[in-house]
Amino acid sequence: MKFVCPVCRQELLKKDNSYYCADGHCFDCAKSGYLNLLRTSSGGNHGDNKLMINARRDFLEKGYYEKFRDAVSEALAEYCKPDGTVLDCGCGEGYYTRCFKERMPSAELCALDISKHALKLASSRSKDIDFAVASSFDIPLPDGSVDALVEIFSPFCRAEFARVLKPGAYLIMALPLENHLIELKSAVYDTPYKNEPGKFEIDGFELLEKKDLKYKVNITDNSDIKNLFMMTPYYYKTGEENQSRLNTLQQLELSLEFCIAVYKKCV
Ligand SMILES: [Zn+2]
Repeated sequence: MKFVCPVCRQELLKKDNSYYCADGHCFDCAKSGYLNLLRTSSGGNHGDNKLMINARRDFLEKGYYEKFRDAVSEALAEYCKPDGTVLDCGCGEGYYTRCFKERMPSAELCALDISKHALKLASSRSKDIDFAVASSFDIPLPDGSVDALVEIFSPFCRAEFARVLKPGAYLIMALPLENHLIELKSAVYDTPYKNEPGKFEIDGFELLEKKDLKYKVNITDNSDIKNLFMMTPYYYKTGEENQSRLNTLQQLELSLEFCIAVYKKCV
């Protein structure tokens, strides 16, 4: 899959270390291999910062989310044809993306994230995947070019997803269930709230399958607990006093509860 120019959607061609479209819009390829296609003056200083990306990498590499990662990969391989075009939207530092490629070596895999820190890590580890800094709300791919789109805990954009998917192609989404990370929230908040149950109807898509995956992990390392907290949305919303409650927490028996939903784009 070749990315297209995010301005005019014409094909991008490589010249030296940059990519150009026929109208002369130019985009740079980073040393580690990702393409920066974000159309802002800040050049991609969006999304998760370096500290958060490193925390996420360190936590995920401990294997706590491995069962979940394998279940998403399994769903992808079950529905998408082996040599299909797969898009990972909001790929972060590529933990899931790498597993998709291993599970489907003949697939053409591309992945987006708005954080260039995330993609620097992702692209330096996986040279056989095309990474681009771009938003899920402005996907630099042609209409009807994707066989399966995977979105894991990242922004959902129905119109863009529908545009880039082929008719009859698959959308695989992962959502947190009610009690996901509830013990972590209990450690930080006086009155922890549960996640709201997801809504599963999507206009223009047919829900094919919905699979719940629930298991517990025992975390016995304070830095793992803090790294996990940093990769959650609570990190942004929580004051220092509440966050400091994690400083002395050495052990946490934690509920991980995910839902993996598979949709087919209506023809
Ligand atoms: Zn252009």
